[in-house]
Amino acid sequence: MTTFARRRMLTMMAGIGAGWTAGPLIIQAGIANAAEPVFSTQTLENGAFLISTDYANVLGLQTPEGVVLVGGVRQEHAAAFLEVLDAHTSRAPVVLAYNTHWHWDHTGSNEVLRQRGARLIAHENTRLWLTNEFYVDWEDREYGPRPAEALPTETFYTNHAVSLGGEDIHSGLLFQAHTDGDIYVHLRGRNILVVGDVVADGTYPVMDPVTGGWIGGLTKAQERLLAIADDNTLIIPGSGGIMDKAALRRQYDMLVEIRERIYEFARQGKGPREMLSEGVASGLEAWGDPTRFVLNAYPGLGRHYREVDGVV
Ligand SMILES: [Zn+2]
Repeated sequence: MTTFARRRMLTMMAGIGAGWTAGPLIIQAGIANAAEPVFSTQTLENGAFLISTDYANVLGLQTPEGVVLVGGVRQEHAAAFLEVLDAHTSRAPVVLAYNTHWHWDHTGSNEVLRQRGARLIAHENTRLWLTNEFYVDWEDREYGPRPAEALPTETFYTNHAVSLGGEDIHSGLLFQAHTDGDIYVHLRGRNILVVGDVVADGTYPVMDPVTGGWIGGLTKAQERLLAIADDNTLIIPGSGGIMDKAALRRQYDMLVEIRERIYEFARQGKGPREMLSEGVASGLEAWGDPTRFVLNAYPGLGRHYREVDGVV
């Protein structure tokens, strides 16, 4: 990590405990109910803040026109999330929110944010998944259409820009990476890059092959993010700790390594279980268990065989 990035991180850490306007730092509710979420808030720079729980990060910005949010939480945690948000912002209006992708654990707060009057921006494919009925086999989970009040109010295909409250907010599609509707949101003036689940903090990122994620797209997406970030950029993944460009680079290098190994095994006609038992991830143990990653990478190879020479 560069000295400047480290200093920025330290500034943020110092913000913990100092940035609260009401209530304790960590809302720890429901001892009797283990399903209650635990949210923590970190104050970043110039009114930026991060509300986190174990599965989600939501970036917030306080602007003169109201609050901007990037990301969301599960529906059953949406009310608790709003309480934490309101405590931090003194119930300032939420004027603008982004879905980084369609997944239920990052879009369950859409209704409450729209009820607050927020414009809700997402990629068009995210809106389409939220209006559909489908089954995700690797999660063994059925999805139904979300109500109209939970849908994005505004979608785009390639790039999108908003100027609001002195902020210059740019977002763009990271096609077929974690899903087929992933976007990054870049707060240029603050040098903060929100990347959703396309990047994971110190572990294998997830690919959802049912809704368009695949390993070729994932590496391309991270290349794009590396091109946008500089050494001082704060990179906010969909969950886990704040990263810097060096951490993103380490993840990208690992992904390229395992991608090439997966392609090579696939050319030999091997399936994902064989890949795992024959050491496709050997030497990469620091990234954790590769099973889900390899199992989810495999279906994408057949769908993208033209891009993976010699697989079919
Ligand atoms: Zn996701």
